[in-house]
Amino acid sequence: MWNPDFFIHNKMKTKFIFITGGVLSSLGKGLAAASIGALLEARGLKIAIQKLDPYINVDPGTMNPFQHGEVFVTDDGAETDLDLGHYERYTKAATSKKNNYTSGMIYYNVITKERRGDYLGGTVQVIPHITDEIKSCIFQLDGEVDVTIIEIGGTVGDIEGLPFLEAIRQIRGDIGRENTLYLHVTYVPFIKAAGELKTKPTQHSVKELRSIGIQPDILLCRTEKDLSHEIKSKLSLFCDVKEECVITAKDVSCIYEVPIEFHREALDERVVNLLHMWTRAPVLSEWEDLIERIKQPQHEVTIAVVGKYSNFTESYKSLNEALVHGGFSNSAKVNIKFINSENVRGKELEKEVLNCDGILVPGGFGSRGIIGKIEAITIARQKKIPFFGICLGMQLAVIEFARNVCGFPLADSAEFNPNTPDPVIYLMQEWYDYRTNTVQIRDENSFLGGSMRLGAYPCNLVKETISQDAYNVSEDNNTIFERHRHRYEFNMKYHEILAGKGMVFSGMSPDGKLMEIVELKDHPWFLGCQFHPEFKSRPLNPHPLFVSFIKAALAKKKGV
Ligand code: GLN
Repeated sequence: MWNPDFFIHNKMKTKFIFITGGVLSSLGKGLAAASIGALLEARGLKIAIQKLDPYINVDPGTMNPFQHGEVFVTDDGAETDLDLGHYERYTKAATSKKNNYTSGMIYYNVITKERRGDYLGGTVQVIPHITDEIKSCIFQLDGEVDVTIIEIGGTVGDIEGLPFLEAIRQIRGDIGRENTLYLHVTYVPFIKAAGELKTKPTQHSVKELRSIGIQPDILLCRTEKDLSHEIKSKLSLFCDVKEECVITAKDVSCIYEVPIEFHREALDERVVNLLHMWTRAPVLSEWEDLIERIKQPQHEVTIAVVGKYSNFTESYKSLNEALVHGGFSNSAKVNIKFINSENVRGKELEKEVLNCDGILVPGGFGSRGIIGKIEAITIARQKKIPFFGICLGMQLAVIEFARNVCGFPLADSAEFNPNTPDPVIYLMQEWYDYRTNTVQIRDENSFLGGSMRLGAYPCNLVKETISQDAYNVSEDNNTIFERHRHRYEFNMKYHEILAGKGMVFSGMSPDGKLMEIVELKDHPWFLGCQFHPEFKSRPLNPHPLFVSFIKAALAKKKGV
């Protein structure tokens, strides 16, 4: 159990920044946390970022992407909140299971301990048992890094968030003021009728936070306009925050400008001063170069993303970012045209995709919208439009090829049709999980959350393929690691037949049992992968498959 003496006596090294949000949701707390992480790294510090989510779900893996946005997957196979994607994109900190906890997990742990008799029959309460459990999750990363940034999900005032706020309130008492910083992200709206920025919502939000016992050290104010000296001093007076610590976080045209904008407002300097840290001046040249390139693209391409989630920006967050990153490496602005495969079909679909320079079919679950996606793949294959299929997109590319080229009209995935005579994509009953060193057994009745292949798995690339060229691996060092999140696999029974008709199998698990990448002969760029490359793409280090795909789309546009 959590014991403050332990940390004090072990001379805790890590300092903590706690980020809370006020007024309304969607203010970009995740981006703020990630950008502060980037700035601290630019000052030579080692950081970690953790997200604490107040909702009751035990893991975000089974949450609906319509409601909650993308599920981000880490190397160790944790299914997490999409904010962890921002943390990885902006910083060098790799995330794992330890970086995302929900109320559900916290309560689950406490209840498990209670059932085991750990509390010796004592009354189990929110304070101290739940709050202690939260604190031990926060302190898990202690000692490994210089600064841990903790983002508390939700908005101050939410009932579910109270135990988290109480836990972080206590931490200042436990480890001292110089080791803790409270940063509150808030909203300062511009009211057109009055022609003014309004501070009242922020005042109320800070009042709420102070009623819980937390006095923010920094206010990060999301706003459309620059905060004037008057507005800053008003906020300073009413919220009891030093004026220099009232920071303007103005809307920017590209999210990768946020670290530079924060630096202009001296946010990183305020943070290190408040934490009593001495660091070098930040080295931001990489970010500055990136912004330059983003602002002056030489080319432009349009990619059709044929998917089913209508909340497109949130449900395909990492994918959208990875496509844009692919553009950075090719000096190209990437426009993404989202096509809902449930509504757009046949001639209309053809017209839409033929206006684009590349087609991408992303991951997904269930049979809704499948027909439209297969139609898009047929068009890409026949009209030689660059095609990228990810996870479900790869599985559908295999189904399309089996049906329309190999003469298996009923070929399908067991996910959509368990009785198909040709299950080219099927549920592997038994497979070896190299990460846990166990044989995994699964069937139709397996528990949904527990039967997926999750996290990073190795894949060996075959020479003289698009994949080998994109990853630029040598023959003797041709293993890559990519992240997975799926239940179904390519059925090796069909390997030879499909290969005979021109499908190239360019990536396989080292034991040769799991198919990871398929390509097509006689096509400029047609590739499907069973993994999700988008999770590993970074603006400063775009993913090779996205770089190669955008390059092919540009070539198609230029008619090369
Ligand atoms: N539904 C498919 C499976 O479970 C694909 C999953 C995905 O695209 N992430 O295998």
